[in-house]
Amino acid sequence: MPVTGKSSLVFFIGGILRRLFLLISVTCLILLVSCSQKNHIEDLKETIVSLEQDLDSFQQEYKKREQNQLKNLQIVHDSVQAGEGLFQVLNRMGINDEQRRKIVLSIQDSVELSVLKVGQRFYAAKDSAQTVHIFRYEANPATIHLLFLNSESSTFEYKLVSKPLVKKQSVFEGVLESGSTLNGLLFQVGIPGRMVGIVSGVLQCKVAFQQAQPGDRFRILLEESFYQDSIWISGKVLYAEFEGRTVGHHEAFRYEDPDPKSTYNAHYTASGEALIFDGLRYPLDRLHITSSFGSRIHPITGVRASHNGVDYGSPRGAPVYAVAEGTVITSGFDQYSGNKIAIRHRDNSTSWYLHLDKRNVSAGTRVAPRQVIGRVGNTGRSTGPHLHFGFTNSSGKWINPLTKTMIATPKLEGTRLARLQVQVEEIKKELALTEAQEPQKASDSLDVNVRMRVLP
Ligand SMILES: [Zn+2]
Repeated sequence: MPVTGKSSLVFFIGGILRRLFLLISVTCLILLVSCSQKNHIEDLKETIVSLEQDLDSFQQEYKKREQNQLKNLQIVHDSVQAGEGLFQVLNRMGINDEQRRKIVLSIQDSVELSVLKVGQRFYAAKDSAQTVHIFRYEANPATIHLLFLNSESSTFEYKLVSKPLVKKQSVFEGVLESGSTLNGLLFQVGIPGRMVGIVSGVLQCKVAFQQAQPGDRFRILLEESFYQDSIWISGKVLYAEFEGRTVGHHEAFRYEDPDPKSTYNAHYTASGEALIFDGLRYPLDRLHITSSFGSRIHPITGVRASHNGVDYGSPRGAPVYAVAEGTVITSGFDQYSGNKIAIRHRDNSTSWYLHLDKRNVSAGTRVAPRQVIGRVGNTGRSTGPHLHFGFTNSSGKWINPLTKTMIATPKLEGTRLARLQVQVEEIKKELALTEAQEPQKASDSLDVNVRMRVLP
């Protein structure tokens, strides 16, 4: 470390200087005491001169070293913005082409550059010629990547500073109450948002949460790493379970391939069915159902007919979102549906959005989940501003959108399936060990318990 290096150098040279001063003083004293012997005086004078010369050269050497060490480095920093990689950040930090390349080359084996998050910060210590001498990337408070410039070879030497972590497992267990959702409960007991997203995403492949009821039960097993016992560094969801009166009993297990970067690393049912949720989101920010799916008396024609979607009451102009990624196959107007948009999704189902005031996308456009595609309106055969939201399955049959779930990938087979089954048994053992711990209330106001175990 530069600071320690500098202070030990100062200490070392300071010691030598002190000894030299002492030697000169003692010599002067001897000189005074034994001044009667003139030839000795001449000898001693010479000695003093040579000692003073030594002192000068030491002082010069000290100054030179000090300058080298301190070099007047200037610290610059910048952070990742949306859609950027490390290269763009380094560019903004004013690091030249050659050093940019060297930094990326020196760090790419140790840092997964493709998963840099928005806001992650980089520091560089540069001299007045803009040459970077030290480069620092703090992936998290316990993992710091450093590059030091070797001025002779002008290459960077990599050093990882990795502080010891504590690994813990915890089982959260609880029931839904009236008006509570699984997501809401997990957030309230302090589980990091990313892991809450994984739990609900995984379970949503099997569970239509719109039909979950008070009294439905959940249980999840997390494995998390902490720095200094409380700073959250990373975590994974090993197991998630939901048992509902109408939605049934479902379990998800975390599978890990030997290759940590494998796309097979995900959650599966015990029989190997992938639980990778393809992002079915809500079409509106506020969901107020005014008419459900199924048979009803039509408000305008008075005729009993099948209502092939769900009506959400909403003020005119509220944003309407794509419920999943897909391609717009219809964006148009007719006298019944008014302004309408249809999006075909990866599993060949289609979501429909009717009576829109405005349409923001045209046929052929690819849309992302939660992208605004239009605004709520009252066009076509409609008695007031609302969104009619419908879903057709891959064979074009209208289905209840509230029960729609989407699964993107297939089953595990062969050696992967066998490996999953071994891992399922391991997870069950871990679950039992952690469940043997004393339960604690996860929050004063909620009916959620947590059991925690520090891993050896
Ligand atoms: Zn409708």
